[in-house]
Amino acid sequence: MTKGLAGKRVVVIGTGIGGSGVSALLAREGAQVLVLERNSFPGGKAASFEHQGFIYDTGVHWLSRGDKGPLGEIADLVGAEVSYRSLEPAMQFTAQGRTATLYQGMDDEEVLELLFEEIGVLPENRPGARALFKDLARERSPRELEELDEVSFSDYCVRFVDDEQLNRLLDGFTGMYMCISRRAASAAEFILCFSNQVKAKNLCYPLGGMRAVPMAYLEALESMGGEVRYSTPVERIVVESGRVRGVEAGEFIPADLVISNTGIKETVALAGRHNFPDHYLSRVDALRLSFGAVSVKYALDAEVVKPHLFCYFPDFRDPQQAERQAAIFVPVPTAADPSLAPPGCQLVLAGSLAPPGLEDREQAAAVCGEILDRIENTMRDLFPDIEDHIVWKIRTDTRYIAEISGRWTGEVIGLAQNRHQVGKNRPSQVTPVEGLYLVGADAGGRGVGTEMAADSALNLWRLLLHS
Ligand SMILES: Cc1cc2nc3c(=O)[nH]c(=O)nc-3n(C[C@H](O)[C@H](O)[C@H](O)COP(=O)(O)OP(=O)(O)OC[C@H]3O[C@@H](n4cnc5c(N)ncnc54)[C@H](O)[C@@H]3O)c2cc1C
Repeated sequence: MTKGLAGKRVVVIGTGIGGSGVSALLAREGAQVLVLERNSFPGGKAASFEHQGFIYDTGVHWLSRGDKGPLGEIADLVGAEVSYRSLEPAMQFTAQGRTATLYQGMDDEEVLELLFEEIGVLPENRPGARALFKDLARERSPRELEELDEVSFSDYCVRFVDDEQLNRLLDGFTGMYMCISRRAASAAEFILCFSNQVKAKNLCYPLGGMRAVPMAYLEALESMGGEVRYSTPVERIVVESGRVRGVEAGEFIPADLVISNTGIKETVALAGRHNFPDHYLSRVDALRLSFGAVSVKYALDAEVVKPHLFCYFPDFRDPQQAERQAAIFVPVPTAADPSLAPPGCQLVLAGSLAPPGLEDREQAAAVCGEILDRIENTMRDLFPDIEDHIVWKIRTDTRYIAEISGRWTGEVIGLAQNRHQVGKNRPSQVTPVEGLYLVGADAGGRGVGTEMAADSALNLWRLLLHS
């Protein structure tokens, strides 16, 4: 037990990966942790739901490292048990009518040669492509990485090679990792995501669905004396004389520390803008979010979709495909965990990106509706018999993500990992209000979605331990 945190009254707002992770870590140090969650279920964007014998996720998830990254580090520290399954080959990628198989070991020269061949990298561009992948996977000092924080990932790539097909593959990776464009993305952030994944060779899915991760953290929290209250939205973070005093959630709940997992913009609104200095407010207002997402969740009565994870770009030279299809990312969670569906059935999540910041609900419905139609067209084109096997399907858009995460817009990740918002430019977890901290994908972490939220939880735990 750590002296500084022992007995401290900590209120954590939200049970996303960041909130559930940090709450268990602080309970481990003897803090009195109370977690308040507006939903009746845990996990935020990492929640899962049961419907007619299938367990499907809020998101469209596949994890970069699972137990070999920060998600596993939290579990080890708090004694939570989560199992993951990784499959080989890792995934499939299709662009302009060419399909490549991606293996876990993307630092292997033979694997890369095969990839370049299959995806159609021009022979004269192969030396540059090899050099790029070698540089992406190599060890870097924190200082070397920092030098690339503010470099656009596409500018970094052209230092090595500029090949149309390879660019599509890199666009696909940037979309999967950060849900922003290659031009906007920070080179350092991409390198970190890629090199960590290549090192771990553990692209995987959590058994039991995405919710298995936050649920395991919260179970560990409760076993250490912490408490979780569901259906308890925090209406206000109470601040007096520049210091946090507690929260209003149907009643006043006093706290020594309040940790918000609700997003930085939402946290400022909950605490009251008048409690923050102008320079902080203008910074927060200017922060950009990642793209949103829409998805079609298919419950099928047979195994229709192969492979278990793929990224597909339409062939834009074909006017029909260009007009009716969408670029899609498709995990098949039942390939990793068949218990997520009745025997012989298949759960398939087909997702695509949507514009960021769709705050207007009507506009969101119209824009997302069109993308959802395109996803369904694409799935029908790729798997002509899919319609014959649908037990049910659910279409979700950015409004759904906003609703489930309690955020204003339905961004996939949280704050965009663009070159102005990573590393030392990522918002600090320490806010100008004494005792009020941020956790989750918006502050203090790096990496891919859920792992960035977990990294943020670990960093906040370390910070509070040493302060
Ligand atoms: C469609 C989709 C696909 C994705 N795919 C991947 C993927 O393949 N791999 C990957 O690693 N990541 C992926 N992500 C991203 C990842 O899920 C998120 O980045 C991560 O889970 C965010 O965690 P967080 O801790 O920031 O909290 P969030 O998940 O945003 O949770 C915030 C929590 O706070 C609660 N809350 C908000 N306001 C209040 C309030 N006032 N009172 C009480 N509670 C409140 C919410 O209800 C919620 O539970 C995906 C996300 C989506 C939506």
